[in-house]
Amino acid sequence: MLKELKHFAVQTRRKFHTFPEVGFTEFITTFEIYQMLQNLSFHLYIGKEIMDSDERFGVPKVEEIEASKARAIAYGVPEAFAEKLDGGHTGVIAVLDTGRKGPHIAMRYDIDGLPIIESDEAGHVPADKGFQSQHPKEMHACGHDGHISIGLAVAKYLDKHKDELTGKFTMIFQPAEEGLRGANSIVQKGWLDNVDYFMSGHLGIHALQAGSVAATAEQILASTKFDVTFKGKSAHAGVEPNEGRNALNAAATALLQLQAIPRHRDGTTRINVGHLSGGSGRNVIADKAVMMAETRGETTALNQYMYQEAERIIQASAAMYNVKASISFMGQGLGSVCDAEWVAIVKDACKNNPDVTKVFDMLPLQASEDASYMMDHVQKSGGIATYMIFPSPLPVGHHHPQFDIDEAAIRTAVSVYIDVINYLQHR
Ligand SMILES: [Zn+2]
Repeated sequence: MLKELKHFAVQTRRKFHTFPEVGFTEFITTFEIYQMLQNLSFHLYIGKEIMDSDERFGVPKVEEIEASKARAIAYGVPEAFAEKLDGGHTGVIAVLDTGRKGPHIAMRYDIDGLPIIESDEAGHVPADKGFQSQHPKEMHACGHDGHISIGLAVAKYLDKHKDELTGKFTMIFQPAEEGLRGANSIVQKGWLDNVDYFMSGHLGIHALQAGSVAATAEQILASTKFDVTFKGKSAHAGVEPNEGRNALNAAATALLQLQAIPRHRDGTTRINVGHLSGGSGRNVIADKAVMMAETRGETTALNQYMYQEAERIIQASAAMYNVKASISFMGQGLGSVCDAEWVAIVKDACKNNPDVTKVFDMLPLQASEDASYMMDHVQKSGGIATYMIFPSPLPVGHHHPQFDIDEAAIRTAVSVYIDVINYLQHR
């Protein structure tokens, strides 16, 4: 059974790898997940049942969502199904209530891809084996295709053993993890209420031989994602430059000064401006510039420090050039600490697992995760939460056009989740 499930997970990962969709546009992905779950004994929820619309962050423009919806319909997603996901209400929640007294275990698997053009060079395994992205500008370059397949394999296991299991299982196939946009809306809808055990995790991150697992992660960085629009006034650069208000100068000044925010004694902080564009022509004073940026901190407080400083510098830079800066909030994750109890749980659960070569107590994530909203909610209401890491050899880093995961890590993850679920049954 386990062998079959692991094989299923690998095949399923390859399938999902071919149609990556960015956050809140996962129409095909949602449909395929739904299809695979619908003959199992779960109650399935989609659309506005799974999220509080207004609590989503960074929802893409209507045109972008509509284009993905049309593409999904062309792919074969029934129109009525796509309609239920209207406005970017993507993702699936699957609930199995055994009706028997036992723990409520929630698991979260993120399902979105990235706006990256996948490499078709020889040596890139998905290209070599013919399962590379069929979507020209999107790619599963972070391993979320693997996360989906792990979740589906675990769901199949739960279904198969539903007569022996106790308690309740909530499987969350979450949209829009990239940019930290989807999780909060699911928490606000109440899906993480009364959860005893919460698990999520990530493939890769640490380039080690597949087969190990970190029972918990540290340095789950709080983060704020934001866009800034600088608005000035255009003018002829030769005839009357004094009449212009230069938005590009303001943005460029902000960009450099943002790097000068002092480090903080309390811990790790980060800032990045990942995109800057503006202006319209050589001889025109630029009236507009757009910046995409993010701050991070080891704790929610450290991220707040970074964000407040960033805000001040942006406004000051705008004032310097007499232009207006408006900041739009695009996404957020909290600083998160896994419950230490998970170290013993995962170690005990996996002690006879032949797929697991080593259980690390803790490995650093050094990235951000909106699962932090779920973890925080579960912890505040008396449950315990962890974020595991399943290392894999990595030919290149995450979010790279040649990103790939060793599929052995997928098999390990399936095996670990199943062992931990069984262990929690008797804890
Ligand atoms: Zn990721």
